[in-house]
Amino acid sequence: MSASDFRRTIIDLERRLDVEQARQDALRRVALRALSVVAARVPALEGAAHELTRAIETDPADTASLDRLGGQLADAMRSSDQRADLADTILNVVERGLHGFEFLDSEMGEFARATDHRDTIEIERTLARVFSVLRDKCQTALHEREELTEVVGEIWSRLEEVDQALSEDEARGQRARTSLSALHEGISGDVQALKGDLNASDDLQSLRARAIAGLDRVVVRVTEFREQQEGELRSALERNRHLRGKGRALESQIQVLHKRLEQARAEAARDSLTGLPNRTTFERMLEDLRAALADGMQASLVVWDIDRFKAINDEYGHNAGDKVLKAVAEILAEGLHGSDFVARYGGEEFVMVLYGSPDDVRERAETIRQAVDRLIVRAGHTRLKVTISAGMASIDPGLPAETIFDLADQALLKAKKNGRDRIEHA
Ligand code: GH3
Ligand code: MG
Ligand code: MG
Repeated sequence: MSASDFRRTIIDLERRLDVEQARQDALRRVALRALSVVAARVPALEGAAHELTRAIETDPADTASLDRLGGQLADAMRSSDQRADLADTILNVVERGLHGFEFLDSEMGEFARATDHRDTIEIERTLARVFSVLRDKCQTALHEREELTEVVGEIWSRLEEVDQALSEDEARGQRARTSLSALHEGISGDVQALKGDLNASDDLQSLRARAIAGLDRVVVRVTEFREQQEGELRSALERNRHLRGKGRALESQIQVLHKRLEQARAEAARDSLTGLPNRTTFERMLEDLRAALADGMQASLVVWDIDRFKAINDEYGHNAGDKVLKAVAEILAEGLHGSDFVARYGGEEFVMVLYGSPDDVRERAETIRQAVDRLIVRAGHTRLKVTISAGMASIDPGLPAETIFDLADQALLKAKKNGRDRIEHA
């Protein structure tokens, strides 16, 4: 890798750092604005909002704050007597702050529609989704930033060595040019002097002696010049060999760092609580899926949502809630075969793609739902039981992924309205 390749790599990495930094700053600004709205509108939450504001200001890297913020905002709307009005204001804040973040477009659209309909259940659900996408993106940005900062620091320090060697080379070239012109000057002086000497000689004996002495002076001059140049050349060669060795070491080091960066990205592709792929990864997988379906395979999308999960948090605490989430995630993952996949969509929602005919898929989803029904999670002395609802939609490769998701999501809403602990088909 040459010095200019290094520079290009660095410039590229630094540009990415800047983008991530800008993204994080914007997220933080939105969070702070949204909090100030909550604090101003819902006096009961003023204390909590201030505490969160302080947390975000002192540790911007604390993405858990955004999580809590999502919960606080949902609570704020639940407890407010002007819920829809408050949702409008929050929508405004979030929209202004996140303008230009394409990855939020569809969530923001859903949130806006829910606000238009004044449908509070929908407002809560869609707002939670906005925040879960934000959380995913923050997590990815953080991981990448940490790794990139290290790579960039490492490369800069190596680049300085290369720079120094290059400027030494340049100085050597300059010295060689100067001593070459000194040599020319010296030789032409010697020749002039020799000519004068020869003219001044009156006998052959002294003419010969002067000629020999004059030529000797030239020979000494040339020999000195050659020795000096050879010495410089030897040390330059030595240094270049050393640099080449270092260059190779740096190249393999950069490869290691790139691998670590990839690993960091892979980690950021998973949800840290359940270990399942997260929403961003799910969306990437959906793109591959459409290609598979073009080959004539059949599959369905299933959107799962744990029933009355908030009550578990409220009654037994957040840790108990986390335990339930992990246990349910395990059951869902155990229900997969072959190319099926599942991801944590956010909060207590999971999305799954099951391959097979609609009847097969319905039967397998039923088996999974019943396994969740049988699940018992211990939290202290309590034995917790949960149920789960789902909406499913066959995946029609001709339809946009968003439409298929909406169909499954509407079926999920139907399952909730029909009494929960059931699966409805779009
Ligand atoms: P429904 O049957 O209609 O789905 O009701 P619900 O209570 O399950 O739905 P709601 O959307 O009102 O509540 C979801 C709750 O999930 C609210 C939020 O605090 C909680 N939650 C989201 N993410 C996490 C998490 O990572 N851990 C825990 N413990 N709770 C979470
Ligand atoms: Mg939900
Ligand atoms: Mg739920």
